[in-house]
Amino acid sequence: MAGTVRFGAVAISFRPGQVRLADVLAQVGVVDELTVRLVDLNGESREVHLRMTEKWSATSWRPALECPQCQAPAAVLRVQGEQVLCARCRPAHTAHHLNKNCRTWRDEGAIADRLVRSVLLGKGISSNSRLARQLEVRSLARIELVGEQALHLVRTIDRAGFINP
Ligand SMILES: [Zn+2]
Repeated sequence: MAGTVRFGAVAISFRPGQVRLADVLAQVGVVDELTVRLVDLNGESREVHLRMTEKWSATSWRPALECPQCQAPAAVLRVQGEQVLCARCRPAHTAHHLNKNCRTWRDEGAIADRLVRSVLLGKGISSNSRLARQLEVRSLARIELVGEQALHLVRTIDRAGFINP
């Protein structure tokens, strides 16, 4: 590794559950080893010790994070158990993958998920309020639909003579 040998390099990840090369480089530059403080998706803080490696990129070697499990270069490592791992070692089962066939996910779940992540990642207020508005519109539309269905059901029962005989 052509990087500067520095000991005790510490970076902080501002993204819950992951370590990104760009964040690390912005804070400590290219180093051989470093400690990254991060918050996992349960909100618990932890420290991980990582090594940097290099990756051939078109015309030159570029710094990369080294996956602690397979030693392959990676731009992003994500929390998996006690470790942070690359995408090859930690296949992504995102909320979208798990829920994409559920009706509630297609209705409002996906928007709620994006809103939560937008807030956690510190995206701008305009992004958050746009998502909140989408969620409100979808929720109100569904409430209206449920209300119409309930009214239809009550009228059907009423016509059948089960209410106020
Ligand atoms: Zn790996």
